[in-house]
Order: sequence, then C-alpha cells, then structure tokens
Amino acid sequence: MAAALVAAGIAGGVTATRTIAPKGSSSDYKFLAVIGGKPVRWNPCQPIHYTIDAGAAPQGSVDDVYEAIRRISSATGITFVYDGPTTEVPQRDRPPYEPDRYGNRWAPVVIAWVSPSQTDIPFSGNGHAFAAVARPLTAPDDPRQFVSGWVVMNVQDPNPPGWSEPGDQGPTVLHELGHVMGLNHVTSKAELMEPSGGLVTDLGPGDREGLALLGRPAGCLVEPVPVP
Ligand SMILES: [Zn+2]
Repeated sequence: MAAALVAAGIAGGVTATRTIAPKGSSSDYKFLAVIGGKPVRWNPCQPIHYTIDAGAAPQGSVDDVYEAIRRISSATGITFVYDGPTTEVPQRDRPPYEPDRYGNRWAPVVIAWVSPSQTDIPFSGNGHAFAAVARPLTAPDDPRQFVSGWVVMNVQDPNPPGWSEPGDQGPTVLHELGHVMGLNHVTSKAELMEPSGGLVTDLGPGDREGLALLGRPAGCLVEPVPVP
C-alpha cells in the first residue's frame, strides 16, 4: 500500500492573486490508491468521526474545519461526527487504533495544529515547504479500506483564516480532507487537489467527481473490526 503512504502536502507560502478561475473538468481527479481496479475508500454508509487539536491554531481555525467538513460531507454524501477536542499530536506512524485514547473503535480522524518540533511528520519535501500534510489510514489487515487518518497544520507556516483567497486556511483544510478521503494530486489549477490548492477556494469539478466516486454513490462497504 505504498500509494496510500504518499505524504500529501500542500505547498506553503503560495501567493495567489485574485484571478478568474480556470474552467475545470470532471475527469480531473486521481485516487491515492487503487486495488483491484477500485479506489481505496471509506465505508460511506456510516459516520466518519473526527477530532480537533486546536491548541496552537490561529483564531477562526475551528470554524474553518467545520465548514471544510460540511463541504466534504456534501460532496461525498458521508456523515461526519465531531467527537470534540483532543490533545493528540499526530506522529508519522500514528496508528488507526488507539484504544487508550479513543476506546475500542477506530481512532477518529485527527486535525491538529502543530509545530514541526512536536512531530516527526516532515513539513517539506522535493524542495517545497508544506503548510499542511495529511494521510488516510487503512486497517492493519485490510489495505482496501480507510478507517482513520490525520491532518497536521503547520503553525509556523500559517494561512489566513477563512475562504476568501486560494491558500487561505479554509481551502487548505479542505484540500487536506480531500487526501483523507482518498484523493491524490492533479495538475489542473481549476482543482483544489492541485498540489498548491490550485487557483480556487472551493472544490472543482474533478474534485467533486472524485469525491463522489469515493463516497456514498459508490456503495456501502463492510468496515473491518479493530483487533485489540
Ligand atoms: Zn496535497
């Protein structure tokens, strides 16, 4: 499952000027991983739980997460449940099952604002600095299905709160949640899943098509049970 282990980052420090967004295509999407001709995805027929570590986050960050979750939920048809705040700081090998912290279930998706000194997750690669990095997590015994994930936002490379410009915090969180759902990068700047978030502040037509194919329209899956 090397493909699902791709560190998916969004380049930081992008300066975007207000511009007419390019027209996208519904074929502009890519999956992080495909097994047996089918994209690796979540069971879309049960809620995805998430938690937020906003300890070091700029003001307004939690509202940006709520809005990003609302948009991902709308695009996938999947229900999301907020489990409340956490103090977890995700590390590179963050397991999908953390019974001591979250009980006997898959760990919720954690969205955390962290300093690079707090985590071994790299905020750079290929000569680029990343404002954020995300990864979905499969069950240890079943690489075909996502059961957890994490998003880390770099507090030393903050994005302005809100949704007004490409690269603002809202679109950045939404891009990272696209990775958590199973989307990979594309080259079209009309899509939010372009490595730097494109020239857009919301999901493009390819992003939406990919998320639909990862969501409820793709049908239910039987979720694996965590083995203690
Ligand atoms: Zn990315």
